[in-house]
Amino acid sequence: MRGSPRVALLAGGTGGAKLAAGFQAEIGERLSVIANPADDETVLGIDVSPDPDLITYWLAGQIDEERGWGIAGDTFTVFDRLGLLGAPDWFRISDRDLATCIYRSTFVSEGGTRTAAQAQIASALGVTAAVLPATETPIRTRIKTGAGWRTLQQYLIADGGSDPIEEVNVDGLEGATATPEVLSALTGADLIVIGPSNPVLSIGPILGMPDLRSAVESSSVPVIAVSPLIAGRSIKGPTEECLKALGRPSDASGIASLYEGLLTALVCDDDDPAEDSEDPPFYRGKTLMENASDRQDLARSLLQLLESLT
Ligand code: GDP
Repeated sequence: MRGSPRVALLAGGTGGAKLAAGFQAEIGERLSVIANPADDETVLGIDVSPDPDLITYWLAGQIDEERGWGIAGDTFTVFDRLGLLGAPDWFRISDRDLATCIYRSTFVSEGGTRTAAQAQIASALGVTAAVLPATETPIRTRIKTGAGWRTLQQYLIADGGSDPIEEVNVDGLEGATATPEVLSALTGADLIVIGPSNPVLSIGPILGMPDLRSAVESSSVPVIAVSPLIAGRSIKGPTEECLKALGRPSDASGIASLYEGLLTALVCDDDDPAEDSEDPPFYRGKTLMENASDRQDLARSLLQLLESLT
């Protein structure tokens, strides 16, 4: 893997995380995943960081692939007991996943950074790529629906995540800055990939930080986004609702419009309904990652595209 390109991948916890697993299989430690920390939530006093942890579980081969979150084969003994005691249990965390969250909470409360906590978690689970929370500043996504403002997890889990979205805000984003580790991953990369994640809820908070955005904008290496839509549809989560709230079409052109000024190319699904585009050019292919070989094939095709672009 030495000599392979260095890739910085911006990702949320599902589509982006799957592509991260494909890249890790191709380039190992030369991959840095810049993870969205705006979904973080405090649950019963414990610091939960869904996207960085989901990415870590995908990279460690421990994710519950069917459910798309949590650890495969895990139990819910602690949350069953908490529910019995009368604690709110709308956000249930399985036992081994809870251990990760307790580890992070303690690490941070004793003065450590989230970046260092995540690095230790990833390395303990045998992950070779770097998993970097985009910022140490607490930022939190809030969603406005007919029911008022909700935290992202309340909207997705307690409310079922299907109400029309009226507005999205990321609290704390104005004052947030990228970590030095993230900026150095971006400046050291041969390729920057914006993963097939929700462009508003997962990538929006990452690119919403002015220093991080400007590092991507001013980069001299190709910046390639992968659309999270398959045949114009989101296969998990409210990506279509987000595009609709912003008046964008649910196709590759809608995704590209949210990354205006950043992209060298956009990779989208063979069946995407958008017309072809020149700026940025659209490259069509199979972008649905149903298993490990699909994930690695997509990563490999992005590395081949990099070669043809440089
Ligand atoms: P979240 O943090 O869990 O919301 O996850 P992301 O933002 O990373 O991913 C959500 C998006 O991933 C959805 O729009 C899905 O359509 C997309 N997605 C999930 N699996 C795949 C896949 O295999 N291929 C592509 N192209 N997109 C995917």
